[in-house]
Amino acid sequence: MAGFSVEGIHFSLAYSDYVDRELVDTTEIIFRRSLAPSQLLKRKQGFEEEEQTQHKRKQKLKCDPAEDVPDRPVLAPLSTQDNCGSFNLSAHEALIRKILAKPFKVPLPNYQGCTYSRGLGIKRKGPRRALHDPYEENALVLYSPPELTAHEKLTAALESQEVHVVVDPVLGKILRPHQREGVKFLYDCVTGERIEGSYGCIMADEMGLGKTLQCITLIWTLLKQGPNGQPITNKVIIVAPSSLVKNWHNELHKWLSGRISALAIDSGSKDEIDKKLGMFMSQQERRTTYPVLIISYETFRLHASVLHTGPVGLVICDEGHRLKNLESQTYLALDKLKTTRRVLLSGTPIQNDLLEYFSLVHFVNGGILGTVSEFKKKFETPILRGRDADASDADHKKGAEKLAELASLVNKCIIRRTATILSKYLPVKVEQVVCCRLTPLQTQLYKLFIQSKALRMELVKSKSGSGISASSLAFITQLKKLANHPELIYDKARTVEEGFEGALELFPQNFSLKQLQPDLSGKSMQVLDYILAMTKSTTTDKVVLVSNYTQTLDLFEKLCRLRRYQYVRLDGTMSIKKRQKIVDRFNDPHGSDFVFMLSSKAGGCGLNLIGANRLVMFDPDWNPANDDQAMARVWRDGQKKKVFIYRLLSTGTIEEKIFQRQAHKKALSSCVVDEEEDVERHFSVGELKDLFRLNEDTISDTHDKFRCRRCVNNSQVRPPPDGSDCSADLSQWHHSSDPKGLEDILLKGAWSSGVTFVFHHKSHEKQLGL
Ligand SMILES: [Zn+2]
Repeated sequence: MAGFSVEGIHFSLAYSDYVDRELVDTTEIIFRRSLAPSQLLKRKQGFEEEEQTQHKRKQKLKCDPAEDVPDRPVLAPLSTQDNCGSFNLSAHEALIRKILAKPFKVPLPNYQGCTYSRGLGIKRKGPRRALHDPYEENALVLYSPPELTAHEKLTAALESQEVHVVVDPVLGKILRPHQREGVKFLYDCVTGERIEGSYGCIMADEMGLGKTLQCITLIWTLLKQGPNGQPITNKVIIVAPSSLVKNWHNELHKWLSGRISALAIDSGSKDEIDKKLGMFMSQQERRTTYPVLIISYETFRLHASVLHTGPVGLVICDEGHRLKNLESQTYLALDKLKTTRRVLLSGTPIQNDLLEYFSLVHFVNGGILGTVSEFKKKFETPILRGRDADASDADHKKGAEKLAELASLVNKCIIRRTATILSKYLPVKVEQVVCCRLTPLQTQLYKLFIQSKALRMELVKSKSGSGISASSLAFITQLKKLANHPELIYDKARTVEEGFEGALELFPQNFSLKQLQPDLSGKSMQVLDYILAMTKSTTTDKVVLVSNYTQTLDLFEKLCRLRRYQYVRLDGTMSIKKRQKIVDRFNDPHGSDFVFMLSSKAGGCGLNLIGANRLVMFDPDWNPANDDQAMARVWRDGQKKKVFIYRLLSTGTIEEKIFQRQAHKKALSSCVVDEEEDVERHFSVGELKDLFRLNEDTISDTHDKFRCRRCVNNSQVRPPPDGSDCSADLSQWHHSSDPKGLEDILLKGAWSSGVTFVFHHKSHEKQLGL
């Protein structure tokens, strides 16, 4: 088996063996010279010879991967491996004296050599020692043994004394303050320090806070150390979406520079995978070649039985919100793993309801919230009742109490930091929600559609059911498309589909799908066109355009061709390799691509688009997480410019209502997860169902719903509260019904193209240096 140099424990065996052998070489050299004291004059020459030998040896080492150990001069002091080259007599003398001062034994003549079963010098006697110095400056100490009294020190067996657990300085020195806290939290959870008898936790940090690095630090620590001087575990499984398997592998390599070998499995034949997994599971303590397994959810589910055959020290589930359904096959398969240490990573723990939240907590720490039905009765029902805008004061009070109780329970095993922590390292971000007026054509088509017989029938039907049916969803999609551009429903109008009776006549005589007509859509052509043109002509900035619909991306392409902007487009079908290529091309500051088009569905895959500092979200998604992830493409590490986000909404339409529903979901999530006390209760469930109404008279339906007390006649008279920023609820942003108070000059200019209202806020006042 080759490759000792890169495999944790084995590395140390191989290395200590190497050291011993070197000592032997050294002594031989000493003997040779001491036998020839008269040849002092030739000593210099001797060194030269020796350097040559050393050079040859280095070459030999390089040829042999099994011997890929750090180079150092043969006679350099053992303690300073890096001290290459500087090699003088006094150092040499010092070394010899040091060697001679110890009763060094040459191996026995019939010594068989090392079989690697047990390296020389591996067994330590005397008191245990921490692997890294806990008293070093900036040492990140995860565990400190209890102080012993003088008497205990005398009586306690040296071999059983506990030691400090200290993060390897290689990682410790690169962790940012919040990451140090995070690692300590993870360690305390998985060692049962925070909740007795429970060893799991959820890390729900927002994107960009370094969840991966924090987990790698935890893994590396558990694999090497423990309070009793032994590693806490020898096997770790990371389960991730298949698109991220490679990424984890790369990150491990990046941060640990090959100190650890990970087995990454995403595809292959069934037998092949089973064989590899069997090998992983059969590894014995201290002989673990691959201490880390990285596997996709799908592959895990299909091969779970192999992984259930023995204990595993730790499992990490990336994008853990996949485990929101207690009854899914993946959940059941993972739950059967023989491990109590479970870490679930998610940027967005709650997406739809409290029950999903229960599933996640139940996965990591089974039992702390009771059974499903206990949870429903005790928490879910009263909390939801209290959150409804129609709730009575008593309901509200009870809901708040239950929420507080739930929060205090789960906060012991959940950590959530928002990206605002990072803001001090990043350029300022200006987020803007821009309401844009529909064009007359859009308004006419919109009204025709919502008053159609088909839609009215649908509404009657849905009244009897609960929630939104599939056919309602189809109507919603058509309205969203219309809000983007009338062109997108032209085909339906032409074929006179249900709800589109009479629509074709409303289109202008000269309408053609071949040529984009900017003036037919409020958002796309008037506002977006202006923003792009101004960005192109007055700045060196680049722009990311995001939409839910590929049809809208087609529209963007038409616009870019019309204006002769160079662009790239990321497609869901594109191979990972090709993706990387276009991303690199776009991020190149000297590249000529001006626009990057992105489908919000493809947006969550760790894409880094820092080449752009302006991002336009053309339509809102039902899921706030998708929108957040899209925004995180540009506002992240490495961004140097001030960032501007534009979230375009068609005023008074279904888009505003979708956006409001997003806010509702966010409010729910921030209640439990961020523990914000007074998340205002803006929308009742009844209001949310009122999707199909067009509010023609408003400049912002969303602002109307706030019943805002900081604005008089839609004009802001009191600024947002001190200390608020763009992570706060929209009601605490700046409200602008005219271009005056806007931060962004480009948007000021775009106002007359059809903007009716803008919510805007900054991430922070100014960027701090690192
Ligand atoms: Zn207001």
